[in-house]
Amino acid sequence: MHEFYMVSQLVEKVVEEAKKRDAKRVIEVELEVGQLSFLNPEQMRFAYGVLSKGTILENSHLIITTIEAHVRCKACGFDGRPNYADDASYHVSAPLFLCPNCGSPVEVLEGKGCIVKRVRLEL
Ligand SMILES: [Zn+2]
Repeated sequence: MHEFYMVSQLVEKVVEEAKKRDAKRVIEVELEVGQLSFLNPEQMRFAYGVLSKGTILENSHLIITTIEAHVRCKACGFDGRPNYADDASYHVSAPLFLCPNCGSPVEVLEGKGCIVKRVRLEL
């Protein structure tokens, strides 16, 4: 369901962009999905297929690139990948990522969100 929500927002945004540019149709949408967003690419593709139907995005190609997590620890200065349990409960509540070096909560620099990197339009 998380995926459907994200994709419906994405479709809305791309439709708006395409209208602004007077595009005939959308050819390709490239997404960057953070590892820590816990979005499932398979489910996103499925949602995209359903939600793009009847819009200017219909039959366009969706490319999903996964961005690895990158965190920084203020306590010890660690910079790199976090420790987190790949547990189902983490997918619903906001997960807390811990420093693999000292165990303090860390600041997430990369890998949290989902962004549209590129959209190819037919004008
Ligand atoms: Zn640390």
